[in-house]
Amino acid sequence: MRKWDMNMRCCPLCVKDMDSHEHLFFECEYARQVWGNVRSYTSLGHIEGVWEIIVGFLNTRGNWKSTESIIDRLVVGATAYYVWQERNARIFTDIKRRPTQIAKIILDTVRLKLVSMREGHVISNWKTRKRWDLERIVLHEA
Ligand SMILES: [Zn+2]
Repeated sequence: MRKWDMNMRCCPLCVKDMDSHEHLFFECEYARQVWGNVRSYTSLGHIEGVWEIIVGFLNTRGNWKSTESIIDRLVVGATAYYVWQERNARIFTDIKRRPTQIAKIILDTVRLKLVSMREGHVISNWKTRKRWDLERIVLHEA
């Protein structure tokens, strides 16, 4: 039944294929471009953008509490969310953003989450802190 959730129209993102869940999350060129801009921030950088593989990979991986795994899930989740949001924005409003703009929103969102993470999960890895620019937010006491 899922197929019928959406109208029989063109994908508003790539305008190349039918608008469907399957297309959006598995084939859409626009979604792939968004992913292409954020995947290097994850440990899934080698995956080209087939969502099935990504989600399968995330679900089967052992250590859910590792920083790497948390970041992967945040990025994949934010990507799915913002691609979906852009699709809706194009249908219902005049908004039209480029894949790189969406990628920036995704990275900013994940970065904010990382910055505001509870003390129980302080990201200590220097490379990770630098990649996500976590130092910028550090408050210096007078
Ligand atoms: Zn598309």
